[in-house]
Amino acid sequence: MQPKALILFGPPGSGKGTQAKLLRERLQVPHISTGDMLRERIASGDHLGVQVQELMQAGRLVPDEIVNQLVADRTSQADCATGFILDGYPRTLQQAEVLAVQLRQQGFQPVVIHLKVDYTKIIARIAGRRQCPVCGALYSLTSNPPQRPDHCDLEGARLVIRDDDKEFVIRERLEAYDRQTRPLLDYFAASGDPFHELDGSDGTPQEVLASVCSVLNLE
Ligand code: ADP
Repeated sequence: MQPKALILFGPPGSGKGTQAKLLRERLQVPHISTGDMLRERIASGDHLGVQVQELMQAGRLVPDEIVNQLVADRTSQADCATGFILDGYPRTLQQAEVLAVQLRQQGFQPVVIHLKVDYTKIIARIAGRRQCPVCGALYSLTSNPPQRPDHCDLEGARLVIRDDDKEFVIRERLEAYDRQTRPLLDYFAASGDPFHELDGSDGTPQEVLASVCSVLNLE
């Protein structure tokens, strides 16, 4: 059987990152988050990080060539040979086209999972989101708070609000999604590759995971 490239698709705050982390444990394949990779580069202060920092903080997308290259480099590493999970990529038609060619050449079967969540929920969710600056673990003040307020359960580090999780930036990100990313749904639907839609609005992360596993025919 061909190894799978699982593509988690949905608006910001739809739960892609949370599901990707749960699926990584479940499937034992790498979780590739373009957002996390870009944030790492910003934190390291290298040339690419400096180049993308302003765009990300404004809630805009970074140029296709940059993310295409990051993903191509990452997916060609040995640990991806049995499959991987893409979170936050592709996000534009150009990215989707580049990815499709790459996956075909490398022999991966794309499988798209669309997590649908309505916008009022998203804004509330993102506003309550906190992240560990050390390990990247995600918390929600309402649905998944840390045991000790404001501190990571795993690292003990003080949790932070991502720069682009401020409310006015969230709206910009949702607009970028509507304008540049949502149109990919038609592209995926027409591609002939497996394409599953799930309601990610309600339920715990574990319940949403159960729905994801069921459409993927995992026990
Ligand atoms: P979310 O899904 O919650 O918006 P991400 O961590 O996936 O968060 O992305 C944060 C930001 O990183 C985006 O707003 C964008 O600036 C940048 N980014 C991430 N992935 C891509 C991508 N595939 N193409 C362009 N920009 C991206």
